[in-house]
Amino acid sequence: MVLRKQTSDLNMYFQLAKAASKLSTHFKHHIGAVIVNKKPVSIGANLSKTHPVFATEENGVYSIHAEVKAIISCPRSKLEGAEMWVYREKADGSVGLAMPCEFCQAIIVEAGIKRVYYTDDVSPEGYGIMEIG
Ligand SMILES: [Zn+2]
Repeated sequence: MVLRKQTSDLNMYFQLAKAASKLSTHFKHHIGAVIVNKKPVSIGANLSKTHPVFATEENGVYSIHAEVKAIISCPRSKLEGAEMWVYREKADGSVGLAMPCEFCQAIIVEAGIKRVYYTDDVSPEGYGIMEIG
């Protein structure tokens, strides 16, 4: 992974999100999310599911998005004011755009997370930042 203009914290949490993406069971995209509240407090990966609860349909495969998995796995007391890192690995192994979808954005806002860092293979920085609120 090549990320430019990064701090060591940024790199560390993106590396953690990358490690989380290895837990993905999705057939195509491997996405990892880490929630940080002073320190890492939850991780999640996107998971292929047959049950449509918490799911969106992508090419006939239901999945739980990594951001949602990280939020529902996180202690509630750690969500308010937390930050999230999201890493996306494409099928060819390269880094992809991991900006949260509208569905996840709504849940992220509701959870009280204040900022999301996501990998971005187009921007010169190699990542994007979504400020909430
Ligand atoms: Zn999503």
